[in-house]
Amino acid sequence: MDAPREKSPAELLATPVQYLKGVGPVRAELLERLGLRTAQEVLFFFPRDYQDMSELRSISDLDENASVSICGVVEETDLRDTGSGRSLLGVLVREGNYYLRALWFNQPYMRQRFPVGRRLLLSGTAKLNGGRWEMVHPKVEFLADDAAPPAGRILPVYALTEGLSQNHMRRIVEHVIELCTAAVPEAFPDEFLDAHQLWPIHAALPQIHNPAGPEALEQARRRFIFQELFVLQLALALRKQWLTVDAAAPPLPVDGKIDSRIRRLFSFRLTEDQERAIREITADLAREHPMNRLLQGDVGSGKTIVAVYAMLVAIAHGHQASIMAPTEILARQHYETFSRLLQQARVRMTLLTGALTAAQRKRILEKVAQGEIDLVVGTQAIVQSGVEFARLGLVVIDEQHKFGVRQRSALKQAGLAPHYLVMTATPIPRTMALSLYGDLEISTLREPPPGRQPVRSYLAEEHQRAKWWDFYRRKLREGRQGYVITPLVDESETIDAANVRQVFEDLKQDELRGFRLDLLHGRMTPDEKAAAMERFRAGQTQVLVSTSVVEVGVDVPNATVMTIEGGERFGLAQLHQLRGRINRGSHPGFLCVFAAPQTDESRQRLEAFVKTTSGFDLAEIDFQLRGPGDIFGSQQHGLPRFYVADLARDAAVLEEARQAAQQLVAADPKLRDPRHDRLRKMTMSRYGRALELGDVG
Ligand code: ADP
Ligand code: MG
Repeated sequence: MDAPREKSPAELLATPVQYLKGVGPVRAELLERLGLRTAQEVLFFFPRDYQDMSELRSISDLDENASVSICGVVEETDLRDTGSGRSLLGVLVREGNYYLRALWFNQPYMRQRFPVGRRLLLSGTAKLNGGRWEMVHPKVEFLADDAAPPAGRILPVYALTEGLSQNHMRRIVEHVIELCTAAVPEAFPDEFLDAHQLWPIHAALPQIHNPAGPEALEQARRRFIFQELFVLQLALALRKQWLTVDAAAPPLPVDGKIDSRIRRLFSFRLTEDQERAIREITADLAREHPMNRLLQGDVGSGKTIVAVYAMLVAIAHGHQASIMAPTEILARQHYETFSRLLQQARVRMTLLTGALTAAQRKRILEKVAQGEIDLVVGTQAIVQSGVEFARLGLVVIDEQHKFGVRQRSALKQAGLAPHYLVMTATPIPRTMALSLYGDLEISTLREPPPGRQPVRSYLAEEHQRAKWWDFYRRKLREGRQGYVITPLVDESETIDAANVRQVFEDLKQDELRGFRLDLLHGRMTPDEKAAAMERFRAGQTQVLVSTSVVEVGVDVPNATVMTIEGGERFGLAQLHQLRGRINRGSHPGFLCVFAAPQTDESRQRLEAFVKTTSGFDLAEIDFQLRGPGDIFGSQQHGLPRFYVADLARDAAVLEEARQAAQQLVAADPKLRDPRHDRLRKMTMSRYGRALELGDVG
């Protein structure tokens, strides 16, 4: 009889969890709940935390404030009410003649986990309270009665599901490590591992689960953090290569004549930053490959005029340009701004939004297709209309953070690809920019146009309302205009609309009686919104009571006062955008935020907001307070999230991984070298779809 055939590495890794030692059908189902179906998935199910047993001490031998583990049995538990709805659970643990009390606030349900006599390990910071040892919120490890405490080790702590214990999970993983580690292919060539001082996968895998010590854990984690960041940077480098080197675009060089014809239209001097951005953009436009550039600049920094310059360059060369804004209001506003600006220029312009009738749209699309239109201003309707341009030379995407990241490549045409300029007013920290926009060149406007005064912002208490409205009315009487912003309620435009109407009625009766008020919210039709905006712009209305739909881009320089209600419901970036609405002219702006922050973090965020005027500084603060999850999570960027890397913490690794990825793509643009095969597969399977890398391989 034949001996059973040895399993191939791939087969081994694909082993269903059910056939792993110590699993069986019941636990297999539990594992599946954690998303673990194969041995490989178990192998890459990294601990969510670790318990450091390397400092196992006797309770008789503790130092104040030292981080240690102790081992003992539960002597008794008690649950106290500490007033104002808070509870305190105490668990007295005995080791010989010594005692330590573990404490948990507001987790009364934990009590049942500590029956008297249960043996356990506690890890945390030991503190003396009235001569007795305490640990607040220690990590807990339950021990079998006869098990020796795992001295000197760092134990993995896995995410679990009901019915699966930490000890079970550890045994299952340990078994898989033994069985399968050797079967996992190494993604990086040897020289690469050496050059970046990375542990090989076969060393890193066992150590990330069961580290021999803190240094080993650090090394193992570094390997996986690097790998995760590297694969994204590789995907971005491949995309950039494909977008800007492999594709052809019409070269649009600028000479002195074009430059002076464009500048003649501008009524103000450009700032240094605007000039630099224009230099960077024109250098890109002159190449025969598409520009892919991000123009980032705080609200009011003057991005529009830079975009106009670029679009006029394209038009001067007989090409078409198109600018897309995230909302109808913004698209109309751009259309009107450009109409005024371009009065003297022979530019044939059209507005293409969802508000058009089918017949109007058809007419416009025909003209665009025949090249009778030079500049198309619009919303996403431009993409959705399936429009075909005759000679599209440049696409500008305004407020890009409101679109999905990849939206920018949606306007395709046969033959030459257009140049792309994407703009965003959401300043983000560098590590975020390199991850979200790593395939783009970046230009930045830091300085606002001259004469701009920072908005004075206040965080106010309820009792200061009367005083604030006094001030607000005075500004209106001086001839200024104002906004009142009501919060997003449950993401529901219907509820918001009702809420705005209520605030509007109240203000009309009370604080703003006798002034001319108007409404703006998401449930109004595009025409109604446009009409309301127009009345406000023209000064017919003095106060616009609105949801955050005015957040993006709306430009009414005479509006200088703003009340924000429910400030705790807005993110920092959003608050900053809103504030940008009253920082548009030569009169100083005044903002008052009424808020009821529920958490410390929320209060800190609001306080940072009123103290800080630079959007870039706010972005860093937001990042430090909340980490990247929030920024990453709330944007529809469409990229999968990281498992081990943390952009706030791993900035140095990111820079190294980025450089390495760029070098690799420079040396092997399509990753054809067989030694890069594994990397190529990993990159494609993770980012192929999200970054449209289909054309690369
Ligand atoms: P954003 O970057 O937020 O899109 P805008 O392009 O709307 O900002 O510009 C804000 C305001 O500043 C506009 O009214 C614009 O006309 C004005 N502006 C832009 N550049 C300058 C400049 N160099 N000097 C004076 N005003 C400027
Ligand atoms: Mg703008």
